[in-house]
Amino acid sequence: MANAVLDLSPPSMENIPPILDGVDVAQEQPQEQPENTENYACKMSTEVQAYHFGGSRKQATIHTAILYTVHGTKSYTTLSDSLRHDERAVWAHLEPILKEIRATYPQIMTLHVISDGPVTQYRNKANFYLLSTVPFLSGFKHVSWNYSEKSHGKGAPDGIGGAVKRDADLYVRRGGELQTPLDLYEMLTKKSGSTITHYWVNEESIQKYDELVPEKLTAVKGTLKIHQVLSSQAAQISHREVSCFCQHAEMKTCLCYQPVKVDLRDTTDNSLSTPEPPKKQPPQDLSGKFVIVTYDELPYVGQVLQVVGEENLSEQPHATLS
Ligand SMILES: [Zn+2]
Repeated sequence: MANAVLDLSPPSMENIPPILDGVDVAQEQPQEQPENTENYACKMSTEVQAYHFGGSRKQATIHTAILYTVHGTKSYTTLSDSLRHDERAVWAHLEPILKEIRATYPQIMTLHVISDGPVTQYRNKANFYLLSTVPFLSGFKHVSWNYSEKSHGKGAPDGIGGAVKRDADLYVRRGGELQTPLDLYEMLTKKSGSTITHYWVNEESIQKYDELVPEKLTAVKGTLKIHQVLSSQAAQISHREVSCFCQHAEMKTCLCYQPVKVDLRDTTDNSLSTPEPPKKQPPQDLSGKFVIVTYDELPYVGQVLQVVGEENLSEQPHATLS
């Protein structure tokens, strides 16, 4: 069994000073990797950057990532013309990278994410829900998200963002035109000899994550003190104020520092409401939607591939109690 460590350090857009042209790079040193004895480990560093296009008012959001494995390091950018930086957008940016990790290293079952902890992006129940569902869809079995308190200042400019900026500047100086975020993405993918892998993230794929997050989620107490969130089951997390990896090599969650379990599915109102008679609803197209199904009393996350018949569409699980 093996694991992946994903180090996120994205400053929000507001922290990036306005610039007229070029990529603004906010960089930090990768954090120390938790000790591990596995055959495979990878670590990723992700940052949000903005690229402003000189001639237009358009703007691109760029996440850069570095994946560390025992085989070496790999660099990524994910680009979008969506300027959203919330946790749903972040998961849309992570999705192609997670899928690639799983496809390249099918033996990697555990994903450790390390980030700083801006509440708007990462330390909130929507992100807890996403981290306890999305990685399982890609085939990961265990997830931890670890919040560091480090403040992230500007650092060395020679990161991936710097490389993208140099590429873009050089391209424009040689007479190339970059008018839109997609132009930038296409220029980067066509550039020969690049060691960076690029993915395009469209608005639609971000909206997919909006649909995944339920309107109601269990409130998680003491969110600001949380330093580690662990999950091995859909919508089930345990959290604690200190990150610990002591049983990490055995793929176990240790009980150090009193982890607190939370079921993020908020069922409080359901138990009080009278079950309504099933409404005759127009069949919804559920294809592609995320669902949490209970099987053997354990929740699993899945994606609807095809809807056959209509019989279950308006059925609420809580209404089946009698
Ligand atoms: Zn421990």
